[in-house]
Amino acid sequence: MKLTDLNTYGGIGANSLLVEIGKFTLLIDAGLNPKATGLDGVPNFSLIRDRHIDFAILTHCHLDHLGAFPIFLREHPETDVLMSQPSHSLAERMLHNSVNVMKRQREEQYIPEYPLFTHTEVEQISTRFLPLIFGQSKKIRIEDDELELTFFPSGHIPGAAGIEITHKHRSIFFTGDVLFDKQMILPGAKFPRRDYDTIVMETTHGATPKLKERSREGEVERLILTINKVIQREGSILIPVFALGRMQEVLTILQKALKTGAIPKCPVFGAGLGMDIANYFDQIARKTGLVKFNRNVIKDLKLQNLPRKLQPGRDVSTAGIYVLGSGMMIERTPSYNMAASLLAHHHNAICFVGYCDPDTPGGKLLETKTGQTFLFESLDYQTPVRAEIEKFDLSGHAIREDLLEFAIQANPRAVVLTHGDQPARDWFIDSFLMEAPNIQVTDPTPLQTFQI
Ligand SMILES: [Zn+2]
Ligand SMILES: [Zn+2]
Repeated sequence: MKLTDLNTYGGIGANSLLVEIGKFTLLIDAGLNPKATGLDGVPNFSLIRDRHIDFAILTHCHLDHLGAFPIFLREHPETDVLMSQPSHSLAERMLHNSVNVMKRQREEQYIPEYPLFTHTEVEQISTRFLPLIFGQSKKIRIEDDELELTFFPSGHIPGAAGIEITHKHRSIFFTGDVLFDKQMILPGAKFPRRDYDTIVMETTHGATPKLKERSREGEVERLILTINKVIQREGSILIPVFALGRMQEVLTILQKALKTGAIPKCPVFGAGLGMDIANYFDQIARKTGLVKFNRNVIKDLKLQNLPRKLQPGRDVSTAGIYVLGSGMMIERTPSYNMAASLLAHHHNAICFVGYCDPDTPGGKLLETKTGQTFLFESLDYQTPVRAEIEKFDLSGHAIREDLLEFAIQANPRAVVLTHGDQPARDWFIDSFLMEAPNIQVTDPTPLQTFQI
């Protein structure tokens, strides 16, 4: 098997992996790098422009996996994309939203190449998205060669899949983005426990040490306690969330806490794509039973829209809980603007609940101590950090020990590391060396083809 990581800058970003096995050439994911602008955020498709790609796979609908598919499919009219049923319900909606965001960025940030694709293109390519039911194998033939493909739920977000590919005597497993723990709205990953020849795995939390005393339930409790404390001192709480997955999880946590009286009645605000995704989750829950989510959450919380005018440094007029995208507080998003309003005031709190890339404003704020200055670059505003900054481990990604354990129990000949910063990958390289030195571990150099 040959693999080529098309994610030009490595790390987590424009995730896309070319796989060549037997007579098959396939692409797993085609994402946009959320930290890059314009064409710089697209995987390096020039390497495969003249190649015939037999089929593509989408592991899940986060844009760092899905966002560049319209560009890839424009260059490859021969290729269809296989994805899980829930992803099939969500992909088109996510891409249309991406067009809207890019159009806005074109105006606000003068990025002439935006949008990278249009609503019409999204509509057209969506007919080439093919759903595959979890656990049902699909055989694909080319001449005398055959390959078998099976999707397994990977936790993470609704629809997210780990992919098993069997070719001749050889089985390979791609974890995709994975969470083994169960979430409020989603069961944990259900991966086969068996031997694999090769495991291709994500490494997001490789540099995050396990905090023994912390469990997911414990973290939910700690979040609720923090919210209580801030409400009592009449401050506001900002919870930055990814629109797809984390937002619906947090809203469900709040709904439960309000119902049981664990937090007092208070205004809850939500905005953006996540609200619409809630409707999709509701439908997926009713159609497939793969998600535990009900859109009544929004009614129960009496969820309100964001106040129109926000000014950096000026506290919000209505104290409450603000559940806003983006999760990493990317510039010019509701969570970024809200943080600029709240950060200078002692009684407020910003509660991060998911993964924050260290290069994003969210990642940088987590590194800033109370009293130090934080700069909101695109707002041209800086302030000492006075609000309480907290981090809760409710990430959609597995802790590193769980991933290591999964990989080692599969008794593989080889492991390939993807979807992680260098320190995260380094931890896995060292850990495999210590715990399973027979496994050949590869940390791919972007754009270089290697044989496994
Ligand atoms: Zn993801
Ligand atoms: Zn990802």
